[in-house]
Amino acid sequence: MKKQFIVIGLGRFGGTVARTLISLGYEVMAIDRDIRKVQDFSSIITHVFQADSTDEKVLKELGVSNMDHAIVAIGDDLQASILTSLILKDMGIKKVTAKATSEYHRRVLERIGADHIIQPERDTGIRVAHQITSNNTVDY
Ligand code: ATP
Repeated sequence: MKKQFIVIGLGRFGGTVARTLISLGYEVMAIDRDIRKVQDFSSIITHVFQADSTDEKVLKELGVSNMDHAIVAIGDDLQASILTSLILKDMGIKKVTAKATSEYHRRVLERIGADHIIQPERDTGIRVAHQITSNNTVDY
């Protein structure tokens, strides 16, 4: 059976992850507390819900614990990002990928047990530096 993903937060990052997973043929469920985001994605994501991901009861009702992999794509609201990641790990989700917006945010997510932490600007900066200094790049 194909892996099932839950994306929490449909901002630029989470929205792109969700769209790409769908284009790759995966089943995706998504949650955002903003109804406008839910409406924007309702034509491409079958199971998209307006909910606050820090509400454990709601996550259970939506069947989030059956998902194989969760992506916590909440950036600005540190408390919501941390609480959501904690609840998902406590629910027994095997893989939790979480987005961090700072080094401290990353460290807290690590302590909680997030399996994979993305710090988009930092990670991209490192990748770009490697790309532009790799041997394949023309020196100019
Ligand atoms: P991006 O850069 O990816 O656009 P961002 O880093 O600015 O996003 P936010 O805007 O904080 O991150 O959050 C991304 C999305 O997560 C938003 O659409 C927001 O409505 C949603 N979100 C934030 N908190 C919660 C929550 N507790 N429950 C569900 N969705 C949430």
